[in-house]
Amino acid sequence: MILDGKAVAAKVLAEVKAGAAAYRDKTGAPPTLAVVLVGEDPASALYVRSKKKDAEEVGIASRDFLYPGGCSQAELLATIQTINADPGIHGVLVQLPLPKELNEDAIIAAIAPEKDADGLHPMSLGNLLGGKPTMIPCTPAGCLEILDHYGIPLEGAEAVVVGRSRLVGKPLVQLLVGRHATVTTCHTRTRDLAAHCRRADILCVAAGRARMITGDMVKDGVVVIDVGTNRLDSGKLAGDVDFASVSPKARAITPVPGGVGPMTRAMLMRNTLLAARRQSGLA
Ligand code: NAP
Repeated sequence: MILDGKAVAAKVLAEVKAGAAAYRDKTGAPPTLAVVLVGEDPASALYVRSKKKDAEEVGIASRDFLYPGGCSQAELLATIQTINADPGIHGVLVQLPLPKELNEDAIIAAIAPEKDADGLHPMSLGNLLGGKPTMIPCTPAGCLEILDHYGIPLEGAEAVVVGRSRLVGKPLVQLLVGRHATVTTCHTRTRDLAAHCRRADILCVAAGRARMITGDMVKDGVVVIDVGTNRLDSGKLAGDVDFASVSPKARAITPVPGGVGPMTRAMLMRNTLLAARRQSGLA
């Protein structure tokens, strides 16, 4: 079975659209997302355009804070303070990665936690670790949403997460633990990655290595969530999972593209609506 991220994302976006319309009816203004982009990285610019298009389609307004020529840490911190203080802005997206000369951690920490639509603020991550999530990072939230949509049982399942980044791996581990899966985290120092992967009922891969998980590394009936998005020399997009050899053994698998990617975008919209509703006392 293909776990169709595009279809699940469309369902989430339809819900957000209805929620945003109701929000606008109640408050007289749309939920609003600040979009912060520094530098001219073409991939980041593309992501930002897609996110703004999603916002427009679901009735979320976006406000641009664009620094194509770069900016200083102080300038960016001042922008974040302006956004924090503006009651007409409910969520903030700081497109990552920021240029190397900027301190990304300090910028994320400066975002007002209630406006942390990306869920990467230390307070959001801490609340997730504490078992009472307030804002869940978009990509891991999207992975859970797909699993839930297709009714994949998590309780007691052997889940293996390859990757331990702040953005994906670590929060995904917490979400799976919170749903009573037995979770193994793998990374570059893991001895015998294949042995761990072969135990997985649910295998989530966010390593950023094209097609590194092959059919001989999974058991029959595995459910695979492939977070990886790797641009091949051919220009084609490939996941971290070798779809050709893994999919015949998998009970269910996300494709790349069309799996986790659309879910990440949809969850940003859901988080923005949630932030707006909370700030207006509606949630
Ligand atoms: P990251 O920060 O580079 O982290 C990669 C993680 O994978 C690290 O923890 C690393 O281990 C581990 N890893 C790398 N190579 C490995 C190997 N050979 N064996 C075992 N573990 C390995 O990347 P990220 O931000 O989490 O992103 C991961 C992938 O997901 C990328 O392809 C990215 O483009 C994609 N992504 C997709 C979406 C989406 O919406 N579809 C969103 C975010 C990210 P160490 O900690 O030991 O270095």
